[in-house]
Amino acid sequence: MAKITLRNLRHSYYANPKSDDDFALKKVNLDWQDGGAYALLGPSGCGKTTLLNLISGLLVPSEGEILFDGADVSRLSPEKRNIAQVFQFPVIYDTMTVYDNLAFPLRNRGVPEPEIDRRVREIGEMLDLTKTLKNRAANLTADGKQKISLGRGLVRSDVNVIMFDEPLTVIDPHLKWQLRSKLKELHQRIRRTMIYVTHDQTEALTFADQVVVMNNGQVVQSGTPIELFEKPRHTFVGHFIGSPGMNLLPVEVKGGKAFFAGHEVATGNAGQYKGKDSGLELGVRPEFVSFATSGIPVEVTKVADAGRFRIVETRAGDRLIKLIVPEGADVPQGSAHLAFDRDHTQVYAGGWMVGAEP
Ligand code: ADP
Ligand code: MG
Repeated sequence: MAKITLRNLRHSYYANPKSDDDFALKKVNLDWQDGGAYALLGPSGCGKTTLLNLISGLLVPSEGEILFDGADVSRLSPEKRNIAQVFQFPVIYDTMTVYDNLAFPLRNRGVPEPEIDRRVREIGEMLDLTKTLKNRAANLTADGKQKISLGRGLVRSDVNVIMFDEPLTVIDPHLKWQLRSKLKELHQRIRRTMIYVTHDQTEALTFADQVVVMNNGQVVQSGTPIELFEKPRHTFVGHFIGSPGMNLLPVEVKGGKAFFAGHEVATGNAGQYKGKDSGLELGVRPEFVSFATSGIPVEVTKVADAGRFRIVETRAGDRLIKLIVPEGADVPQGSAHLAFDRDHTQVYAGGWMVGAEP
């Protein structure tokens, strides 16, 4: 097992990268503690697979270092790094049985047969493959094949880290939920570092203690699910995580105070703003907006019932502001006023939360 450190890591698929745009991974600095459950969350194309392949050694970084327990492994071969990687699509041997597929990574390393048998049966049981252990892998469904891939990633007990690259893409929705909770349970049992890559916020937030959010080749925030929810460091985190996402409104900051449409709004960080940017934004999640007797004047335009709460859309001039109203609470009709919770209302400059720029 190992602590993983990424230091000024950059990667370009071009031979002579010129500008930042030529880098699939712009500049990543991260510390992954030994034994943690991490998710890497971001939209398609943001650089998640590139980052995993750099860590596993399938790619060599253009710049920067990857350290395992402080030792530079950036140029070591994948075999020497002792990593298990599960890919998005099944990587198995069709002509072998399920059992032999699971045993393969262990036989490859000369693990004694009784130990192999014990591990294969244990992992097979966990993934509901016990009844199919003797079958040829070729005859399985896509789900079944991907479960073998997962099993091959989980079967070794000597790895530094287990990395999953969108492993549930080909899995049926109801089984997805089941496998996800199994992985979580397994992490709690074996306490091995796991990095789980996904573009799905629910998967990331339920699996991981710590979520790394990426956008456009950059890490925009690394934090607990609660930190990402309560204090998005970047507007991207605000709208990518949450349903609906964070409200973003144009704002002016004068003398350390924030103003939206001429109304002063109390924020946690306007006082720290020293610049003169135009294009500042005010961010507040719908959970932290409420109806009040005074405040921002709005018109209520739409109310949608979402079970235990309602999602209300309002307009302040041409700006849309959403809020979440708990079941049973009143929703005014027509004209109303909104209040924002100060501790969860932030000013953003160039996308970054003022006072928390990289
Ligand atoms: P993700 O896994 O988040 O979807 P990737 O790491 O696969 O993102 O891709 C990041 C960026 O690098 C994308 O713009 C993608 O087109 C580019 N890219 C990925 N693999 C290659 C490659 N082998 N050659 C050139 N460009 C690539
Ligand atoms: Mg990918």
